[in-house]
Amino acid sequence: MAKVTILLSSVLGLLSPLHVSAKTEYTGDIINGHKVISKLDVSDFPLNSLTKLWLQMPRQVNGQAYHVPVIVAKGKQDGNKFLMNSGLHGDELNGIRVVQRVLHDIDLSKLKGVVVGVPGANVNGMYESSRGFLNKENTGSYVNLNREMPGEPNKGNFGQRYAGHLWSNIYGINNFTAVCDFHTQSSTTTFPNFVYADLTVPYVYRMTELTGADIVKIDLGVTAPGSVEVTFDKKGIPAITYELGNPKVWQKDQIQRGYDYSFRQMADLDMYPKSTDPAVIAEYEDYRRNIYYGNEFLSTEAKVGGFVELYAKVLDYVKKDQIVGTMFDLFGRKVEDFYPRHEGYVLSTGTNPLKSAGDSIVNVIHNSTDPECINGC
Ligand SMILES: [Zn+2]
Repeated sequence: MAKVTILLSSVLGLLSPLHVSAKTEYTGDIINGHKVISKLDVSDFPLNSLTKLWLQMPRQVNGQAYHVPVIVAKGKQDGNKFLMNSGLHGDELNGIRVVQRVLHDIDLSKLKGVVVGVPGANVNGMYESSRGFLNKENTGSYVNLNREMPGEPNKGNFGQRYAGHLWSNIYGINNFTAVCDFHTQSSTTTFPNFVYADLTVPYVYRMTELTGADIVKIDLGVTAPGSVEVTFDKKGIPAITYELGNPKVWQKDQIQRGYDYSFRQMADLDMYPKSTDPAVIAEYEDYRRNIYYGNEFLSTEAKVGGFVELYAKVLDYVKKDQIVGTMFDLFGRKVEDFYPRHEGYVLSTGTNPLKSAGDSIVNVIHNSTDPECINGC
């Protein structure tokens, strides 16, 4: 079948320039029993099918390609298309388990439409146990794949090309109805269950409600150009960045919240029956009622290097005169007390006591009354 596809592609390529329109392209390779593709078009797949594939990515220094796992669940009937992306930062792992579990448990006979899951988009970042994609040329540098979308597959450094491949061969060519990009906080820092959302994009507010997250940051995405979320939003496709807690761990509670959200999201898009489990519904209603929507972060930063003892944790409500941490020198002498820059909820703290000048001690989210901040500052 792969050979036929390649043959047809090359023949059509000669005959018609229209051939460049997206069609799933099979390389002919099979890895661990799964076919390798260089482009995904979900419209090619039969109804009532679950398909696991590898997307071939740019080649590494030894000429071998990275391969990104992709799962396509196509229901018994056509309908909307939901993209679940995860692991675009290689140290952010909770979302990978969400994608694995949802695509494993989904009942195709109840599904209307298509769910595409990417369980671990940054293969290089996972090898390196790092948020960034490591370019090893020259002295080496890290690329933040979530700032390089849509990119171009044949332009820029290796990491930028890798991002371009993801966009050009999966994300950007399947006419998704809605997108959730699962993340966590970065290494040595913590988050609650938290969403970045541009509420000026139709349907995004509804998506935030469906998460039942602890905190939503109202955010126009100006500090994250080139992210998956912002790039989809710009095209009018509603997208959120869903931060599921902490890096380099599988937190079962955070994963469960991402899992439950995904099924609620499908139900809201008329892709899947709503849950009728009273316990699940009650738990969600509780979460939804308590979502805190904030529009500004304010971070307290270290002025010099030293060791910091923390007196606040994520989701604590802190006042401006409250000591949230103290810095000590190597002999244990107090250097400085830290206070929040504004009253509000603690959104993020560090887990590593060692701090350099400029490092964040606590990051607080609140609601600024500045009219310019209404859609996020
Ligand atoms: Zn991330």
